[in-house]
Amino acid sequence: MDEYEYISSSQPDLEKIWKEASFLIQKTMSSYSYDVWIGTLKIVELRGNTLILSTPSISSKNLILKKYKNVIIDSLNKVHSAITSVELVVPSSEEDTEDDKNVQQTQTTIPKRNESTSFNAKFTFENFVVGPFNQFAAAAAKAVAANPGKSYNPLFVWGGVGLGKTHLLHAIGNYIIENNPSLKVIYTTTNNFTNEVTAAIQNGKKGINDTKNEFIEKYRTCDVFIIDDIQFIINRISTQSSFFDIFNELIMSGKQIVIASDKMPKDIEPLEERIRSRLESGLMADVGIPDIETKIAIINKKAQLERYNITRDAVEYIAEMSKTNIREMEGLLSCAVFYSNLIGSSITTLETTKQALKDRITEDNSEIDPNKVIECVCKFYDIKKDDMLGRKRNQEFVIPRQVAMYLIDDLLPVPLKAIGDIFGKNHATVIHARNKIAEDMANDKKFATRVNDIRQMIKGK
Ligand code: ADP
Ligand code: MG
Repeated sequence: MDEYEYISSSQPDLEKIWKEASFLIQKTMSSYSYDVWIGTLKIVELRGNTLILSTPSISSKNLILKKYKNVIIDSLNKVHSAITSVELVVPSSEEDTEDDKNVQQTQTTIPKRNESTSFNAKFTFENFVVGPFNQFAAAAAKAVAANPGKSYNPLFVWGGVGLGKTHLLHAIGNYIIENNPSLKVIYTTTNNFTNEVTAAIQNGKKGINDTKNEFIEKYRTCDVFIIDDIQFIINRISTQSSFFDIFNELIMSGKQIVIASDKMPKDIEPLEERIRSRLESGLMADVGIPDIETKIAIINKKAQLERYNITRDAVEYIAEMSKTNIREMEGLLSCAVFYSNLIGSSITTLETTKQALKDRITEDNSEIDPNKVIECVCKFYDIKKDDMLGRKRNQEFVIPRQVAMYLIDDLLPVPLKAIGDIFGKNHATVIHARNKIAEDMANDKKFATRVNDIRQMIKGK
């Protein structure tokens, strides 16, 4: 019998099934994609053979269905053969009225969403912990939210992955729709914006001009334009020039623009010079690496929001263990709380936290070092180490190089800057490589399998 097969019963333990299935799903993707997409899913109920899961937003629902539906069904089906399909629902903005205490402790409260916007209601200024590393960016964001178009324009927020940029962008949006509801606020990601431009142009060519006009009107008439992840702006004349036109028009008419990026404008490649200079023309505010005190404060805040019951030493342990990424730190916290609940403890203690996170520590202490990762990647792609570490930009070297950066970051507690040093690159290049590989893995199953094979090779399995 399959080791994951449960004896069929009339009332299956859904939490347990989902935990086992999540474990299988996790193996197929980067921990980044896992945390962002699968980690946000919550069990609702089992209806016949369909497991209903909730996801925080329509956009995440669509993406998860598109990219991960099959792997979710396969994994669930392996764990519990009676489950043959999944359905995702986006909860309404009603408060969670669940009164079972245990459930409250393990389930993340689903963010309230303002119907008319795409803002995550949890990403507010109140929920944003300010420390020395992000004080400047937080103050700038508050100033912009309080006086859109009148203080810093554009506001350009930049910094590493998982450090609160998107949270700040949403906080600005949430603040404005609450305090200045007559203003039209638009939040979009750069990928979404690019898709809209492409669709508008294609429809324009087909003679369907409405979409194009609607697209232009939508942006022209907004008071606050918030665009996330501008580092993904692609080198297509249409996208960059649409952005340029909208940017100029809004700034000229005193409308607020807020932009987030994990790179500074000077490091975004390729980017038209005229756009680069526009991006740099307002206030640039960076979020840096959190110090230990702020990390502890962030975990406490999150625990308070989610009504987790966790001891002080467990919080400190998680803060010390996490690398320089707040999103990852939140993942460790959920994992510790989830595990504690699973073994029947209503309080997450240092002991249960250590047990929950022991795999991650074992991984850190293993025999792996960056050199071993590089050797395995070279062997897999059959290239020379000199070429891997050299400056040649042919695809046959660029991809293995990016895979090596991704795996070193994924497997080892090595700071991004140190990874960059190994390859003679800056830390922004490492961030780009890591994101690119994570995204390619999410889009291309075969590529994901190859990267995971290399990972197993490195671990000597
Ligand atoms: P980024 O956009 O920089 O990659 P996010 O804004 O998505 O990062 O942040 C990742 C997670 O960390 C989110 O859940 C966010 O709420 C949380 N987070 C980041 N910074 C803070 C902070 N200063 N206080 C509280 N939570 C934070
Ligand atoms: Mg972000």
